[in-house]
Amino acid sequence: MHYLSTRGQAPKVDFKGALLAGLASDGGLYVPESIPQFSPQKIAALAGLSYPELALEIMLPFVAESFPRAELKRMIDTAYANFRHAAIAPLTQLSANHFLLELFHGPTLAFKDFALQLVGQLLEAAMADSGAHAVVLGATSGDTGSAAMAGCMGRKNLDIVILYPQGRTSEVQRKQMTTLGAKNIHALAVEGTFDDCQDMVKTLFADAGFREKTHLLAVNSINFARVLAQIVYYFYAALRLGAPAAEINFTVPTGNFGDIYAGYLARQMGLPIGKLVIASNRNDILARCVATGEYTMAGVNPSLSPSMDIEISSNFERLLFDLFARDGAALSAVMDNFRKTKSLKLTPAQHADFTSLFAAHAVDDKTTLATIKATYEKSGYLLDPHSAVGVKATEALKLPGITVTLATAHPAKFPEAVQKATGITPPLPAHLADLMGREEKITPMARDIGQLKSFITAL
Ligand SMILES: *Cc1c(COP(=O)(O)O)cnc(C)c1O
Repeated sequence: MHYLSTRGQAPKVDFKGALLAGLASDGGLYVPESIPQFSPQKIAALAGLSYPELALEIMLPFVAESFPRAELKRMIDTAYANFRHAAIAPLTQLSANHFLLELFHGPTLAFKDFALQLVGQLLEAAMADSGAHAVVLGATSGDTGSAAMAGCMGRKNLDIVILYPQGRTSEVQRKQMTTLGAKNIHALAVEGTFDDCQDMVKTLFADAGFREKTHLLAVNSINFARVLAQIVYYFYAALRLGAPAAEINFTVPTGNFGDIYAGYLARQMGLPIGKLVIASNRNDILARCVATGEYTMAGVNPSLSPSMDIEISSNFERLLFDLFARDGAALSAVMDNFRKTKSLKLTPAQHADFTSLFAAHAVDDKTTLATIKATYEKSGYLLDPHSAVGVKATEALKLPGITVTLATAHPAKFPEAVQKATGITPPLPAHLADLMGREEKITPMARDIGQLKSFITAL
């Protein structure tokens, strides 16, 4: 399997190449050259597999030249052994035709663990060939940092350095990054905003000499390996609800479009999915695009679902690549223009293509709180604010047939919103019950590239 850049200029790479590069050299995102096909018979034969068994069958065709079956199996088994629910991704029924897929039983309580528990191992294995030491570098405003750290913890020849804006993450989020107690994990508190952190990270990745010398790696959501791991749970949920005979809708609380793009790939592979619903908070660039065909930036505003607070959805470019009939040169010109004008207009045919599969609904903070409250009163179930945005979108759209809403975070990860809506402070699960009392290790970092470079060089 080869991977192409959405901008059409970078050379094709194999899976390992896409994993280690993150972004392609022409600024595009890697997508698979062809999509492995699963016929209804083949899908039916997957029913009854455990989550790790299913993950192996779904992921292997994408990676086989880079990671043979036995090696991939070992990594998958290790990744999902850290989950705290026997089903890994259990379904809960909210009403007759509405199910929740709980994706928050991993070590850091958000769906990002599904990919990052595996990606840490994939990177370790990919680097092992060369014997070189590598540094995973990233900036976080919340969930990605802790999930990436948990995935890289104790991995050989791998350090992870995460920059976060001092005083601007939640208590739980900070503690999840600073209390892991492993030597190869470094939480850097930057005096500045998330954008300052991201700028520092981008500056180092743009410095080709430094990047090569220190083997910098990126694990942000544009890394195709992350998308790949997320395809699995669409199959897992659909199989339990009657696929391939039944067609299922999925609602996905969406920020960077990585998670819902994985659902799109599942459908391309042959899984019968009716609609994919983009659930947005007040940062509704995608919901506006579904409504009007125009994809236009409008700044970013803080909300109660901070992991979905985005100005643009970076993974949307992968869907655009297909809407532009996989014409990288055409998309490259469109993306250049988008950067200048902050706006992009789909043709009527592209818009029709987009909305034949995708629907969208945006939910403001007030409605998010009301949904957490109403769901708790109706069923005793506590939703986190991201999952609540999804539940509301499903309820508002009233699609025919069964809809699965992805529950992307544990309510205890965002206790302030849940408390405000219901008066209840959701307790942390047992493995994190003592989190608030654990010892923190924080490295203060000035907004200074020289200082950051010295820190990384010394690892
Ligand atoms: C990251 C995240 C999202 C958004 O996922 P994307 O792949 O960026 O669309 C939604 N909910 C939670 C809890 C998250 O951490």
